[in-house]
Amino acid sequence: MDRREFLNLAGKGVVGGATALGMAACASGAPAAPEAEELVEEVKQDSALPEISWEVATSWPLSLDTIFGGAETFAQRVSAMTGGKFNIVARAAGELVGGLEVLNAVEEGSVPVGHTASYYYVGKASSTAFGTAVPFGLTARQQNAWLYQGGGLELMQEFYKDRFGVIQFPAGNTGAQMGGWFNKEINSASDLEGLKMRIPGLGGQVMDKLGATVQVLPGGEIFQALQTGAIDATEWVGPYDDLTMGFHKVAKFYYYPGWWEPGPSLEVQINLDAYNELPEVYQEIIKTAAYEANSTMLAKYDAKNIPALATILEEADVEMRPFPKEVMDASKAASDELLDEIAADDTDFNSILKEWRTFKDGIQAWHGLNEANYLNYIGGSS
Ligand code: CA
Repeated sequence: MDRREFLNLAGKGVVGGATALGMAACASGAPAAPEAEELVEEVKQDSALPEISWEVATSWPLSLDTIFGGAETFAQRVSAMTGGKFNIVARAAGELVGGLEVLNAVEEGSVPVGHTASYYYVGKASSTAFGTAVPFGLTARQQNAWLYQGGGLELMQEFYKDRFGVIQFPAGNTGAQMGGWFNKEINSASDLEGLKMRIPGLGGQVMDKLGATVQVLPGGEIFQALQTGAIDATEWVGPYDDLTMGFHKVAKFYYYPGWWEPGPSLEVQINLDAYNELPEVYQEIIKTAAYEANSTMLAKYDAKNIPALATILEEADVEMRPFPKEVMDASKAASDELLDEIAADDTDFNSILKEWRTFKDGIQAWHGLNEANYLNYIGGSS
């Protein structure tokens, strides 16, 4: 889809309609079922339940209201469902610990709970990638299906327990990310050779295999690096967060899709000793609040990305392009090779990869058959 097609849809009111719906959903929130209200009342009246205050260490600046919002939803829902007895407050990156130190702090117990992306810690253990996203992996729906119904969460929780003494719950998803902002055209895989790109995680390791010069810069330094030509390209998230970062002002091309993050999960991580000390009802409330944060964040991104993309295309002379098939094929081959290489040296990664691939192949065949056909038809029929 090019600029004109997208803005044409925006002009038909699709964009405005989606925004209005998104805002209405935010304003009203989900109505509490009578049983839930009764449960909250019971918790409030139960004098045996302790008053507890926790702060959540996060990896996010306040300016990223969608992703920081996942931590806030979690915190606010736990507080609300316990009538304020279990009071949790989300803190921005750097307030309690550095943005990339969340898992370490939760593991040590210096903070009881964090909200972060597990793949920030692939340097600690490659298997953490499965908790967020693996290149050419799962979409948001497929990731949720694997985690909640495909045995993925049990598998990952077992790994976290043994390796870090931490228990984690999915608590947010950005949906499929964009490929990002480029000042060089990518017409073939050879155009990636020597490309200076900011891209973290396993996606960065794949780009490295393809000959790119990979950099991992914190969010606050990317704009200037792209502006001065210190980097040729950067990935970030998608239209809503990218608009906040202002990349459209300093890049010519906006490529898609972000094959390294087709449906990345964020998660709440809790020190296992701290979790085990909680009353069972608080543990159940934590699971429910994380579940709510997980679906709320995805819905927010899906609604907010539509008007954000329209704004980007109106404000800047940006050309949107899909990665050519040859580039996708070369990237996928390099990704498969990387996963096999890691698995050869890492038994945890190997055993999770086996289960994950079986589930992925099945659900992608199913979605490829039915849902993808529907979306391809709809995408091409307007
Ligand atoms: Ca990203």
